[in-house]
Amino acid sequence: MFFRACVAAALCSFGCSGVSERASDSEAYGFEPGSRTVWVRGPWAEVEPSRDVDAVIDQLCPAVLKLPRARERDYGQEYCGLIYSLGDGIYQASEGSPLGETQLVGASRRKSCFSPRRVVDGRGRAVPIADFHSHPWAPSPMSPKDLKASNQRWLVRIQFDTSCRIQKLIPYVGETRPGEVYEREGHRWRLVGLIRPEDKELGRITTVDGEGG
Ligand SMILES: [Zn+2]
Repeated sequence: MFFRACVAAALCSFGCSGVSERASDSEAYGFEPGSRTVWVRGPWAEVEPSRDVDAVIDQLCPAVLKLPRARERDYGQEYCGLIYSLGDGIYQASEGSPLGETQLVGASRRKSCFSPRRVVDGRGRAVPIADFHSHPWAPSPMSPKDLKASNQRWLVRIQFDTSCRIQKLIPYVGETRPGEVYEREGHRWRLVGLIRPEDKELGRITTVDGEGG
């Protein structure tokens, strides 16, 4: 950490601005050396581990909304993290990372986060099952980019907006069955859309009037 901080300080002496560059020195998340790939630390103390993955998912939005600028709309910040286990059947969440691409949205500057590829947990080998990310507005469901097959790395993707409307994507990448999009309603998941195999590449949803799943 000391070494990393020195390197960052040296780089920043050439002219860094804003929090985004300094954020990579945080112990909660960072870029893998020499790459754009993000790692995140786990477990996140704000989220209670559970054998019920839905119990973990339900804690994510309130925890993320406490992070800086998480709900500031066009001036807001998206956060990305992972849900994982250490192979013991207990699910936990990593810290949320703001690291990502700087984008211009209208006249404002915001960042959309990169989905992390690795959890660093000192207790053992972390196996991610899902990624999660926030949008700093509401209503704001998953975008076609969020849903595209080429952007899926895990079995499940979780997304929520500032009203804590939670969506769950089961992408079934490379399978002939359609992808499934659910919304959290109380303690159940309601199927709201399917992504037909031919639509997976573009992430296009076919809306359904569905039952829980
Ligand atoms: Zn998104």
